Amino acid sequence: MFFAKNFVSLPVEEQWNYIIAHTPDGIRHGLSEIVRRDGGSCVVNFYEALLNRPDAAVFLERDTVERRLRGSLLKWLERLFPAHETDIHGLRALQEKVGSIHAQLEISPNLVSYGFYFVKMSLCLLIVDHFETKEEQIKAIIYCQSMVDFAMTYMNKAYNTDFRKKVEQDQSFKMFSLGQDLNFEKETQKATFFDWSTQVLFCLCEQRVADLQTIGESQFGLWMTHKGQNLFKGTDDFVLLGEMIESIDRRIVAVREKNVVPAGFAAELRNNIKDVTFLTNRLFQAMEALQSGLDPLTKTLTRRFLDVVIQNEIAFSLTHDKEFSIVLLDIDFFKKINDGSGHLAGDEALRHVADIIMNTVRSNDFVFRYGGEEFLIVLTESSSADAADCAERIRSRIEQSAIPCSTGATLSLTISGGIATFQGGVKISTLIDQADRALYAAKDAGRNRIEIYSRTSA
Ligand code: GH3
Ligand code: MG
Ligand code: MG
Repeated sequence: MFFAKNFVSLPVEEQWNYIIAHTPDGIRHGLSEIVRRDGGSCVVNFYEALLNRPDAAVFLERDTVERRLRGSLLKWLERLFPAHETDIHGLRALQEKVGSIHAQLEISPNLVSYGFYFVKMSLCLLIVDHFETKEEQIKAIIYCQSMVDFAMTYMNKAYNTDFRKKVEQDQSFKMFSLGQDLNFEKETQKATFFDWSTQVLFCLCEQRVADLQTIGESQFGLWMTHKGQNLFKGTDDFVLLGEMIESIDRRIVAVREKNVVPAGFAAELRNNIKDVTFLTNRLFQAMEALQSGLDPLTKTLTRRFLDVVIQNEIAFSLTHDKEFSIVLLDIDFFKKINDGSGHLAGDEALRHVADIIMNTVRSNDFVFRYGGEEFLIVLTESSSADAADCAERIRSRIEQSAIPCSTGATLSLTISGGIATFQGGVKISTLIDQADRALYAAKDAGRNRIEIYSRTSA
């Protein structure tokens, strides 16, 4: 009854049109009525099914579902099964918009179709109740399934395009600039810099001043300007290296132009070369540490894997019915340490605090450097009370320890902390936000203390 001979070979939009055109008005109106009357229950089933899936719980929250999402899904259903004419173009544009939003939020089509299974199922049951004859029921079921499936086709298409774009934007440039092998890059650049330095020193020995090459003109310099820039941009060492290279090059250009080599120039250059080699090495080392996910200063984890770790813990928690907690720690008045004792002493203090944290938590917990002087701990299989015990131990150890600095001075400092516990139904960003609020409560209450987030106090 439904299929034209060439139905399968029609473009999707025409297939969609065809189904609508070949569904009797009475059936379409019936579905519209069902949705208006009982669409709410289909929507509830959709979100209940998703909330029970660990991979959906990562970005779905019960609160948001109740406040907002159910309403939007119901509106979507009403547009899919309108009381009057179906506007296919508008409908298609809507699906593409929804698909793009899903791509931004990284909600996979697999998950969406899982939820839609329950919507279709609920609608089919309602159809059987609503229509009297078998023939009407069958036509209504085919119509209903087709409408949802065509919508999903466009949704998924938009999802795929947008998701690919997003991933490419996030990853490709970094991957491209990282190259295949950081270690290989490091050895190559050490060699190109060595080549430059021997050549320059030779020229000086042989008094061939006009042949002196600046670092900027060398292969090493060109690599730093174009590729190193992408790799190291934003680090203090890279800025320092840039300044160093500029100052060396300025002096080389002056020598070349005046055609006179000042006394002590070669010795000075040899020292500069040592400094550049040292800094280049350190830049690569820091990058290697970062690539492995470790913060070079404190050896705690970088934020790079934070989402993955929390996502895994959420999945574990939902499937094993166990809580876990996160603790956000922030050093009190850290600016004063930097201002009073210098940035280097500040760095030493940071390393010391990180050591205490890592020595206090269990080996199955995760310690991240969350911000400049903030640490985030994921305490696996821990209730709020367990987390409070652990955070309190860290707080008191830090308070009691004297931090030796290379300047000979001894520093002392305190930290404040906030705790949030995952008990289901919130997403990663909410969990961190809760810990942050508790941390601010601890700061407000006078610092050097730990607070636990609770819904009632928020
Ligand atoms: P509060 O008790 O409110 O947290 O006061 P605070 O001074 O710690 O304030 P805030 O958290 O805003 O300041 C953090 C300071 O930490 C600012 C920055 O200079 C310093 N900082 C951040 N990262 C580093 C780092 O890697 N090394 C050093 N030495 N200092 C850092
Ligand atoms: Mg801070
Ligand atoms: Mg602070």
